Amino acid sequence: MSNIISGKEVAAEVREGLKAEVEALVKDTGVRPGLAVVLVGDDPASQVYVRNKKKACEKAGINSIEHRLPAETTEEELLTLIGELNADTSVHGILVQLPLPDGLSEDRVLETIDPSKDVDGFHPYNMGRLVTGKPVFEPCTPLGIMRLLHSTGIDLKGKEAVIVGRSNIVGKPMAFMLLREHATVTICHSRTRDLKEKVRGADVVVAAVGIAEMVKGDWIKEGAVVIDVGINRIEDGSLVGDVEFATASERASYITPVPGGVGPMTIAMLLSNTVRSAKLSASGEKAVAS
Ligand code: NDP
Repeated sequence: MSNIISGKEVAAEVREGLKAEVEALVKDTGVRPGLAVVLVGDDPASQVYVRNKKKACEKAGINSIEHRLPAETTEEELLTLIGELNADTSVHGILVQLPLPDGLSEDRVLETIDPSKDVDGFHPYNMGRLVTGKPVFEPCTPLGIMRLLHSTGIDLKGKEAVIVGRSNIVGKPMAFMLLREHATVTICHSRTRDLKEKVRGADVVVAAVGIAEMVKGDWIKEGAVVIDVGINRIEDGSLVGDVEFATASERASYITPVPGGVGPMTIAMLLSNTVRSAKLSASGEKAVAS
């Protein structure tokens, strides 16, 4: 039976630490970190995410500035708002909740955010820095996964890591973070041949697919570390991951549960990036050379 990696507990520790850092920053410099969250339209899941982010900010002492725009907002209007937030010195992080309604270009919107306030780490500048091994702001979900892996004390050097999923927000940045720690990385996707065999060879498996329990327990190598990013709602209304937890946990040395695994870490890392941005700004240091 494997050890459960509790993202809930690790995230709570991170958030406690951030709260203390925020208090110290305010006391020493008068600067309180500010995160602007932009929500366009009325996607119900996005509304929940935004509400949770706001709550988490408040608990950590971070100012959360919410901008709710109607679904009919034009790209120009949205870009104008981002321009204003870029110029606002009380804002240290800008997050545009995705997905955007049809007709708005996510690429253009994300590229308009000042990279030094891009606490989601999705701007091509920050992606490029990650790829070249000199990261500034890194995407929150894979960054949170690295924290979870570190919490196990496992040395990733030379380990075979298999990532299932190649999205820009999880799979690809995850690969570069693992590579930086000297793992040998394989990225799998929907056209990968014999996925089962790839997973069977892995010391570390990261599943980020979005299909309930598609990674079967008997694919997991004895003693492997399993990180399940997936959040899938099944017919009975409960949430399950991308990995068949019951059987995988019989073989894995460590495994993350769903819920309570990767999910809580994503928000914790968003707060962490925002606090770092505020600290850099307070010290007059530039996160991004202009
Ligand atoms: P995407 O839909 O952007 O990417 C899914 C990836 O899975 C794609 O690369 C796709 O391949 C691959 N894939 C699909 N079907 C298969 C298959 N049969 N075999 C192998 N690979 C396959 O998803 P995201 O990365 O955004 O999210 C993945 C999951 O993680 C979702 O459940 C999402 O809800 C969850 N998530 C959780 C977060 C958290 O905080 N816990 C944060 C972000 C996401 P291809 O590229 O070829 O299409």
